[in-house]
Amino acid sequence: MITEAIVFSLPFFIIFLWIAHDKITYLALKNCDIKELKLRINTEKQLPKFHSHISFNPEYKLKFPEITNIPLVPERYLHLLPDSYSLKNYLKNHMSGLMSIYSYEPDMGVDDDLILSKFQSFTAGSHGWRHVRFGFIKDIVRLGIAHKMSEHYFNEAIQLKRKRNLYWSTRVLGRALHYIEDIGQPFHAKIISPEILLKHISPVKIGYHIANLHVNFEAIIGFLLWRDKKTFVNILSRKDLLKGRNTESIALRLRKLNMRYFTSLVNLLEKLIPQDFLSTHKLTVLDTNTIETLLKDIRTKRLLEITRQLLFNVGTAIRSTVRNYITY
Ligand SMILES: [Zn+2]
Repeated sequence: MITEAIVFSLPFFIIFLWIAHDKITYLALKNCDIKELKLRINTEKQLPKFHSHISFNPEYKLKFPEITNIPLVPERYLHLLPDSYSLKNYLKNHMSGLMSIYSYEPDMGVDDDLILSKFQSFTAGSHGWRHVRFGFIKDIVRLGIAHKMSEHYFNEAIQLKRKRNLYWSTRVLGRALHYIEDIGQPFHAKIISPEILLKHISPVKIGYHIANLHVNFEAIIGFLLWRDKKTFVNILSRKDLLKGRNTESIALRLRKLNMRYFTSLVNLLEKLIPQDFLSTHKLTVLDTNTIETLLKDIRTKRLLEITRQLLFNVGTAIRSTVRNYITY
């Protein structure tokens, strides 16, 4: 109980991201033999015209990765992308390509600074509130609505499909996938471990320490996927499914499966990530040379095994959601 009390007083300041959404979606759907995924869609020239009941901050403008031709990657992760990386590779006029592009942080900026819940300060504000489902006290208390966001956008995609607006329907489905992928990242399902709490007295230091474990785990995954490391590409491209009666239940099942690895991940990352990248006063993202060295280290084996399992589970949830959409 004391640990939870400390957690609730932590100053969370981090924008939560699970990077390489674009690649995760692309690979999860790559070998799906759903003929609709190959369907060419006429990209509407007029941007954008879909109506959501979700509120957005009007001061931020929605960004369109189709225009920049790179995913909307936060600057701190840009160095992990290979030089030649381009969203053109994703055949953006096909359903699977559009979903890949629009599963990448579709609301970056626009869901900041909203008032959504009196508890949102525990999830770094309104953006975090929509992108996480943090469990506390043995998961009895849960904060954040990532699972609800996935369900909302899935339903919106279905409505647009019924109106035969396939382009926008597909884009919105990409958004639903984003939130499913988010909730499948253990650092979006839990935030604190007693081991870290015992290390520091200052809540600010605890906050930065955890944030650095989080962003650096994602940096490793971004590096592996954006650079096509074979076993990770293969595990995501399998055909297995995760059954669930609707999108929300698929998201919650995925969360349960993947959050089990949280403590092991924290302990492994603690041991493996060089201290320079675990600052307690600023965010520090691993450079590519350090990641390469890390990947050659035999002690990284268990971390990579867990990563493969996490990605496998995420892939099953993506495919199930898309299948539900197609057969709806
Ligand atoms: Zn997110």
